[in-house]
Amino acid sequence: MNTSVASSAPAVRPPLKALDEALAELLACATLLAGQDTVSTFEADGRVLAQDVVSALQVPPEDNSAMDGYAVRSTELADEGVVLKVSQRIPAGSAGSALEPGTVARIFTGAPIPAGADAVVMQEDCQPLPDREGFVRIQQLPRPGQWIRRAGEDVMRGATVLSKGERLTPAALGLAASIGMNVLQVARRPRVALFSTGDELVMPGEVAPEQMRPGAIYNSNRFFLRALLLRLGCEVTDLGIVPDQRETTLDALRSASEAHNLILTSGGVSVGEEDHIKPAVQQLGSLDLWQIAMKPGKPFAYGRVGSAHFMGLPGNPVSSYLTFLLLVQPFLLRLQGVADVATKPIAVPAHFTWSRADKRREFLRVRRNAAGGLELFANQSSGVLTSAVWGDGVVDNPAGQTITHGDTVRFIAFSEWLA
Ligand code: AMP
Ligand code: MG
Repeated sequence: MNTSVASSAPAVRPPLKALDEALAELLACATLLAGQDTVSTFEADGRVLAQDVVSALQVPPEDNSAMDGYAVRSTELADEGVVLKVSQRIPAGSAGSALEPGTVARIFTGAPIPAGADAVVMQEDCQPLPDREGFVRIQQLPRPGQWIRRAGEDVMRGATVLSKGERLTPAALGLAASIGMNVLQVARRPRVALFSTGDELVMPGEVAPEQMRPGAIYNSNRFFLRALLLRLGCEVTDLGIVPDQRETTLDALRSASEAHNLILTSGGVSVGEEDHIKPAVQQLGSLDLWQIAMKPGKPFAYGRVGSAHFMGLPGNPVSSYLTFLLLVQPFLLRLQGVADVATKPIAVPAHFTWSRADKRREFLRVRRNAAGGLELFANQSSGVLTSAVWGDGVVDNPAGQTITHGDTVRFIAFSEWLA
């Protein structure tokens, strides 16, 4: 039998997995992290709420003035130019008293509207009388309700202002504070161990650029992956480059799996690649090697080591960057209980032409121009990290799709992901 014929037959390529399917499978594995943290509202930016936040009061607490001016009874003002007595002065923070009939109250922004008043005339429309102290001329007749901010117009008592599973923004912290919340219950931060693989990799600072050996490159993935994880509020343990020995790798994975929710690596997940991480993960737990129908991207590994999740990203920097944003980030958010982890593209006109339709869904690095359109970075190679710095987002282009100047395309801004 001629075995050489059989062994030289083309290897059967695993079928490509749709990106949406890959994401759905990952999210199905993302069980909520156990436990919660109680944090000061000051420290809660970017954390995910583990509680509904319900208001025990209304905001604003009472009707108050939206302007510096005069609180009036609108029915008493028959004609423009009417002169009325100023019977009280109500600065913000004071209560004031009921408005005497036939008078107005000097009032300032945020001060409560006195009982009986039903409108505010802004001070620009009033004229104090120099020869009659304590009187004012009303130049403009107000509509009833003018310049009054209504009690509860922001928040009603009993309203759920923020929901469990919401990721807190600076505005959300302000809203929580506005109803008196000084601490919040939030999900635990995911603990992530970061590894690099690849014998070609050198850490910046270890070897000067002019002394790099042939074939060596600097480890760039480690820098953006660490930064992306930190932006997401993860606790990161950077385990560096795992030495190329079976036992050391097994030990590193074993100990990382005990203290981390996710072990994240980049490089070494391509089909047929000789790498020590893959067999080590397989030995300690389980590993699925996927070929995802996306470009840049494609190779991706998901597995388990003990109770920790394992994810292996492709080594090419742009592939690594985008698979992180499209797959790892939603997964990390879901671990914290975020329900809606979908990225939301917006429709924007392409100010470029793309004739190289690919059989994979493609993420083209583009930049917004002043005319409201998108321009394409010239080199779309998966190794060109310059494209991700130059661009301010990607076009999510379906498989087999060409783009003509003026076509509406699906744009995802990096700022949407990196918030
Ligand atoms: P791999 O996925 O290991 O086959 O790597 C694909 C390409 O990405 C190769 O050119 C690697 O040299 C490069 N690469 C892998 N890891 C890194 C890294 N951490 N930083 C920069 N480039 C990398
Ligand atoms: Mg490699």
